[in-house]
Amino acid sequence: MSAATREEIATLVPGDWQLRAACRGADPAVFYSPDGERGSARVRREARARQICRPCPVLAPCRDHALAAGETYGVWGGLTEADRRKPAHRLRRGEPTTRLDPFASGRSHSSNVDSP
Ligand code: SF4
Repeated sequence: MSAATREEIATLVPGDWQLRAACRGADPAVFYSPDGERGSARVRREARARQICRPCPVLAPCRDHALAAGETYGVWGGLTEADRRKPAHRLRRGEPTTRLDPFASGRSHSSNVDSP
C-alpha cells in the first residue's frame, strides 16, 4: 500500500468519527505493513498499532467501518488484517459478529473473534 496518511484514508470514509481518531498524525508505517514484512517484525508493528487503538474513543465505528468496507490492509479498530478476515466474511453474509472485542483478553485477539 502507498504511504497515505490516516487522514487521507479517513477522507474516503463517510461520517465524522475519524476526526476523533487517536491515530491522527500517527506514522502510517505503524498501521500498514511494508513489503515483505513477516513474523516477529509484523507482530511487533501490529502491537504498536494496537497500543494506539486501545484507548481510541472511536474504536467501535472504526472497526465496524473496516469490516463493512472490507478493508484489506492495515490495522483498523484494533484489528489486524488477519483478525478481520473471518468477521468480515460473517458480516457480508449478514451474520452477527457479537463477540468481536479486540482487547477482551489483553493479549492477541485472534482467538477472541467468532469462528464461522
Ligand atoms: S481505532 Fe485505531 S485505527 Fe481506528 S481510528 Fe482509532 S486509532 Fe485509528
